[in-house]
Amino acid sequence: MKKILIANRGEIAVRIIRACHELELETVAVFAKDDEYGVHRFKADEAYEVGKGKKAIEAYLDMDDIIRVAKMTNADAIHPGYGFLAENEEFAKKCAEAGIVFIGPSVEHLATFGDKIAAKKAAIKAGLKTIPGSKEPVQSLDEVVDFANEYGYPIMVKAALGGGGRGMRIVRSEDEVATAYERARSEAKQSFGDDELYVEKYLENPKHIEVQILADEHGNVLHLFERDCSVQRRHQKVIEFAPSMSLGDKRRNEICDAAVTLMKDVNYQNAGTVEFLVTDDDFYFIEVNPRVQVEHTVSEMITEIDIVQSQIEIAAGKDLFKDLDLPQQEDLEYHGVAMQCRITTEDPENNFMPDTGKIETYRSPGGFGVRLDGGNAYTGAVITPFFDSLLVKACVQAYTFEDVIAKMDRALSEFRISGIKTNINFMRNVILHPEFMAGNASTTFIDNTPELFN
Ligand code: ADP
Repeated sequence: MKKILIANRGEIAVRIIRACHELELETVAVFAKDDEYGVHRFKADEAYEVGKGKKAIEAYLDMDDIIRVAKMTNADAIHPGYGFLAENEEFAKKCAEAGIVFIGPSVEHLATFGDKIAAKKAAIKAGLKTIPGSKEPVQSLDEVVDFANEYGYPIMVKAALGGGGRGMRIVRSEDEVATAYERARSEAKQSFGDDELYVEKYLENPKHIEVQILADEHGNVLHLFERDCSVQRRHQKVIEFAPSMSLGDKRRNEICDAAVTLMKDVNYQNAGTVEFLVTDDDFYFIEVNPRVQVEHTVSEMITEIDIVQSQIEIAAGKDLFKDLDLPQQEDLEYHGVAMQCRITTEDPENNFMPDTGKIETYRSPGGFGVRLDGGNAYTGAVITPFFDSLLVKACVQAYTFEDVIAKMDRALSEFRISGIKTNINFMRNVILHPEFMAGNASTTFIDNTPELFN
């Protein structure tokens, strides 16, 4: 491979371009008219507008036009990043038909893991424990009520094709079930174009622990340990760190082994993440994300393995051990602790409403142990309402969790951003809260801790 087209924007496009340039690969960016000053286009060797006449997000979803640019520029492969076309089977198929490598898993794996019911079936087949729930999509409200009568409240109704924390509702009693069912259905239909739902037990205050996997076409599967992504707002991740502070070595190994078992069982290829919910006494598979994730950074920092470069090498047919020289599983170690805060242009004082406008001042932190992955984060950048509100990922690494928190607080305090609202002060409240500092924050921590908003 000599040239890669990046079918994405913002920080992840920049992240991928950097990986390509380090591998001495040429890069092609695509951009929407509504994103013509997007920083990614200036970082790439070439850049082309796609989806002319289409609205912002639709332009990045214009599969045929993106493939046209890939052919026109003689790109050998397309990296889809996350979001947009990253998990789109049709796009992966179209790439193959055009003779272009799709940097990601096979069409078959995108299909299995794009559907959470199919994913749960694959996990059960591989011997993983899943949360008790419906084995097939629920066809009616009565089925949900029957499930609750059998297993007891609380339960959760979830969209089969869900993502980004949308299309899921907690149900605590029979009074709530009809409304929750209807809301989840309409949200699923609206967000994912399909209203298929399933139901499972709702776990109270679990931790969200996920395992980073790299797998090649030669049957090698390597895990890069776990990330704790429990700090969430409305089921969406806000802060992630690696390794987890709450797992002992035994449980850590069990969870990482379970992830490897599943990925071997399905013969997975490329980077992927196996997600679990962890309670005091057990752990349960929830889903697989068949792509690079926003929080891949923290695993890179503790293992020193470049996940995006690995994705590209794997897609080129390389062997994790023979060609990439990665350590065998038993020799792979992690060092220290790494943490990421997702800095967004959202206003915590106004229910996290996305803010828009021009960034008047932008000064970022730096120094030992700080890594920033930004998109349009610079003085003069205009934040539009068209795309997600992630401004920059602030990551730090240090020897202990305590040191990481001190370093993150120092880094966050160095930001000087004016002209646009951000969640930076809110992030500082979160990381300095005693419960978070003790490594104990569960998935309901933000929603149940009103003093964070002071
Ligand atoms: P998405 O694909 O939208 O990210 P997930 O299935 O990965 O959805 O779940 C996102 C988050 O929602 C989890 O990390 C967890 O906090 C919460 N969640 C999902 N299922 C359950 C459940 N059965 N019990 C408790 N929390 C859940």
